[in-house]
Amino acid sequence: MMQGVENEESFVGDLYQRFPVNITKGKGCKVWDINGKEYLDCMGGYGVALVGHCNDRVVKAITSQAQNLITCHMSVYNDVRFNFLKKFSKIAPKNLQKTFFTNSGTESVEAALKFSRKYTGKPGVLALNGGYHGKTFGSLSVTYNEKYRKSFLPLLENMQFIPYSESNTISEIVTTTNQKIGAVIVEPIQGETGIIMPPPDFLKEIRNICNENDLVLIFDEIQSGLGRTGKMWAGEHWDVEPDIMCLAKGIAGGVPMGLTVMRSEILDCLKVGEHSSTFAGNPLACAAGSATIDSLAEDNLVSNSETMGRIFKSGLLEIKEKYKIVREVRGLGMMLGVEMRFDVKEILLDGIKNGILLLYSGRNILRLLPPIVMKEEEVNKSLELIEKLIYNEEKRRFG
Ligand SMILES: *Cc1c(COP(=O)(O)O)cnc(C)c1O
Repeated sequence: MMQGVENEESFVGDLYQRFPVNITKGKGCKVWDINGKEYLDCMGGYGVALVGHCNDRVVKAITSQAQNLITCHMSVYNDVRFNFLKKFSKIAPKNLQKTFFTNSGTESVEAALKFSRKYTGKPGVLALNGGYHGKTFGSLSVTYNEKYRKSFLPLLENMQFIPYSESNTISEIVTTTNQKIGAVIVEPIQGETGIIMPPPDFLKEIRNICNENDLVLIFDEIQSGLGRTGKMWAGEHWDVEPDIMCLAKGIAGGVPMGLTVMRSEILDCLKVGEHSSTFAGNPLACAAGSATIDSLAEDNLVSNSETMGRIFKSGLLEIKEKYKIVREVRGLGMMLGVEMRFDVKEILLDGIKNGILLLYSGRNILRLLPPIVMKEEEVNKSLELIEKLIYNEEKRRFG
C-alpha cells in the first residue's frame, strides 16, 4: 500500500468511498501525491477546486487575511465581508440581492428550506427524482437516493418527489395539495446522480408553475454554479431565475463557505435569532471568496469553462464512437458525465495508476468536474488518458 493511505482509516470510520492515493500538493489542474507523482485532477475535489488548486489570488488573499483577522461574528461589522458582498452582488442573479452565509452545501439548503417555509407559511416541498441536496436531516428529506435515506427515517414530512420530465404532474400535485406545498427545489443540472440534463422546457415550465401558485423556486447551484457549466449560473442556459439559490463548493477557492442567496422579501421576513451560524461570514472565507470572484471575472474563467468544456465534450463523444462500453456523454461546460455500460471502479483505479483522478456517479458513470482554469493542452492530455483507461477496460472485459 502507498505510504500514508493506511493511517487514517482507524480514525475516520468507513463513510467515504476512498481511493489509495495520498495527495499532498496541488496547483491549477494538477495534484501531487506523497511520493511526488503527478495527477491531472478531473475530480477537482467534487467541484470545490473550481478556480484551480492554490489559485494565486486565493492564496494571496488568505495569506494576508490570516495576518489581520480570521474570525469575526455576524453580530459585528467587517470590511472584508462587506467587500465580498458587494462583489458577489454584481455576479448574482439580479433579483437575488440578499445573502445568508453558511459553511457548506447542506447548510445552504437547510437555510433555503427554513426561509421558504417562513415566507410561504407552508411546510411542503417538491423535489425531483434523482435530486441531491445534502445529507443533514432537512436536505436529506429532499434528497432522492434511497441509499442515503433509508437508515434515517422518518425524515421531514410533506416532501414529495416528482419526475424530472413531466411538469403536468407538478401542476397536478400543486393543485391537489396546494395547502401544503410552499417550495420547489431543483438542481438545474443534476450532478451527484450522473450529470442529468433537464428536458429543454422543464425549468421554464417549473418557473411558470411556481409563479402561478406562489411557490418559492429554489435552485441548488452548489455544483453547477459559478461558471462550472460555461455560464455563471446553470439556470441561465434556460433563461430561468430562481427565488432562492444555494451555493457552496467552489465559492471560496477551497475554503469552506456556502451562501443562500435570495429575493429581499424572503430574507426580510425572518426575525433576529430565527437562523444563524457561528462561522457565518468569517473574514478568512470572505477574503477567499472575493479572490475567487476576482479570478472568475479577471481570468475569464466562465468563458474558459465554456470553450474548454466544448473541446472536452467533443473529445469524449469521439471516444464514445470508438468504444462500445461507452453508452452516453452528457453535460455542459466543465460539468461532464460519461455513462458506461459497466461498473467504473476499475477505470478509476487504473486512472490513479496512470496519473488522472476521476470521479464517479453511482456505479457506472464517470463524472468530470475539473478546475475551470484548465488549458487546452490539459484537456487533450485528460482525453488521451481517459481513452487509454477506456481502452484498457474494454480489453479487460472483452479481450
Ligand atoms: C455537494 C452538493 C450538496 C451538498 O454539499 P455539502 O457541502 O457536501 O453539504 C448539495 N447539493 C448539491 C447539488 C451538491 O452538489
